[in-house]
Amino acid sequence: MSRTLFEKIAAREINADIVYEDNQVLAFKDINPQAPVHILIVPKKPIPRIAEAGPWDNQMLGHLLTKAAEVAHQAGLGNSGYRLVINNGPDAGESVPHLHCHILGGRQLEWPPG
Ligand code: 5GP
Repeated sequence: MSRTLFEKIAAREINADIVYEDNQVLAFKDINPQAPVHILIVPKKPIPRIAEAGPWDNQMLGHLLTKAAEVAHQAGLGNSGYRLVINNGPDAGESVPHLHCHILGGRQLEWPPG
């Protein structure tokens, strides 16, 4: 199967502004930011979307969420707040079939989302 866009970013075949990396996850700035801070954090394992993760991914998914909070704090959002978003499927606007969590902040975010 062909490799995903985010696998190519992890392999440095496509440029991205990487802000955090370890053996399980990679975080980089979104190319089309929707807020002053807009970072994507992705598992290195190319799970297409959260609906296709299984219990065997629980450790990695917990790690991804705690690292998302760390990355948000490192980006200066610790006091002001931030939102973590995972889009799953067409109605949610999922456009890259490699699981990713958006970290958004730096402005007042509306609720409910559009
Ligand atoms: P989704 O819509 O699937 O939840 O989010 C995909 C995100 O990936 C979008 O916010 C989009 O701007 C971002 N994106 C798409 N292509 C690239 C790219 O080549 N580099 C980076 N850094 N972000 C990308």
